[in-house]
Amino acid sequence: MSLRETAGKGLPSFNKLPFKMRAGLLAAAVLLIITSFVHILNFNKAYAVVVDGKTIATVASKHDADAVIEQLIDQQEKKYGKPVNIVQNITIEKVSKDKKMLVSSDQLEQRLKTVLDYKIQGAAVKVNGKVQFAFKSREEAENFIKALKEEYKTAENAVVKFEEKVEIAEMPLQTDKIINVQSALDEVKKEGRIPRYKVKEGDTLWDIAVNNGVSVDELLAANPGFKPELMQIGQVIKLSDKEPLINVVCIHEKTVEEKIEAPVKIKRNPNMLQGKTKVIEPGEDGLKKVKYRFIAKNGEQTEKIILDEKVIKEPTARIVEKGTRMLVASRNYGGGRLAKPAPGGIVSAFGPRWGRMHEGVDLGAAYGSPVVAADSGKVIRAGWYGNYGKCVDISHGNGIVTRYAHLSKIKVKVGQQVKRNQVIGNVGTTGRTTGPHLHFEVRVNGRPVNPVNYM
Ligand SMILES: [Zn+2]
Repeated sequence: MSLRETAGKGLPSFNKLPFKMRAGLLAAAVLLIITSFVHILNFNKAYAVVVDGKTIATVASKHDADAVIEQLIDQQEKKYGKPVNIVQNITIEKVSKDKKMLVSSDQLEQRLKTVLDYKIQGAAVKVNGKVQFAFKSREEAENFIKALKEEYKTAENAVVKFEEKVEIAEMPLQTDKIINVQSALDEVKKEGRIPRYKVKEGDTLWDIAVNNGVSVDELLAANPGFKPELMQIGQVIKLSDKEPLINVVCIHEKTVEEKIEAPVKIKRNPNMLQGKTKVIEPGEDGLKKVKYRFIAKNGEQTEKIILDEKVIKEPTARIVEKGTRMLVASRNYGGGRLAKPAPGGIVSAFGPRWGRMHEGVDLGAAYGSPVVAADSGKVIRAGWYGNYGKCVDISHGNGIVTRYAHLSKIKVKVGQQVKRNQVIGNVGTTGRTTGPHLHFEVRVNGRPVNPVNYM
């Protein structure tokens, strides 16, 4: 059965309609079919937004996706004031629709914000060829270098340089790496100071490491050539082997006036008691002009060199009189010092010896040599005295007593007045000795003192 036959039977005959109406109806039908088909096709399609090969969202409209991307770029361009490119490769691809995956423009924007990076033509500061700082413009990079030099400038006329090769290179830079001048300065300043530690009494390397949060190995690495067993109080050791990013060296010269301290001249006065001083001439400080070169690294002075020195005014000496007269009772002589009681040099000094105190000096005089009183005084001991053997003590007044021991012969008696240089006995080996010598002591208020200081 043909269409025409069916139509002819069920409906008012199509063929009977006027030709124009028939053509119109036919065209309308065709149009309806085409539009429905197109509509069905579109209804089944969506757009995937692909970033570096990975679909991050699917949206209904390509136009909307383009608009979102355009807007993101616009925001960045407004922020940096120059053209911005997206770092990643971004494409929009037509895909079959999956209702669950479709996102709104706002959602697409949020997702893109988390994955996209942008780059601009900026200016990098390279240190020894390596990009260390990224700035949005050459001007910013130049400002940073200027500010860094200014930061560590120690004087108006100073010459400031970098130890490293520091240069500016204009190049595409990722915007998230771009920093401002202040942040870059802070970073350099933080790195510029190597933490150091000054060794205190009782410190061990282990203590220093633990107290400063580093390991012993790190400490050793930071201080090449450092020997822990030779560590000394006051020694400064580095706590980190991190090297500063940029070292700023500042050199300046300065002439300063400095005083020259008056030299002190001591004049011994045997008529004045020992320990007393008297200023005879106060003297006057001089003046000089000194030209220095100061070298500082990262703001810390490392060197101070004298370039030139000119004396403007010579100082005059301060003359101080110093008494040398001992508190010995004698008024018969002006020397003030004790006479040497026996010939021969000192063979054993005053001080600790063999684990005990040697309370005098031993004079290596030959057996039988005369022993004389070191100063005038009164004999207060003359006889055997334990390990001292044959021993003489002479009191000189003011608590001063001299003792002469190991004598072979005693020629004075207790209570006898003796004169300075008067023979009181002979050198021997009595008491505890290993050979002939004179053991000579000086005691002040019973306390032994070094006789050398009084002879
Ligand atoms: Zn002795």
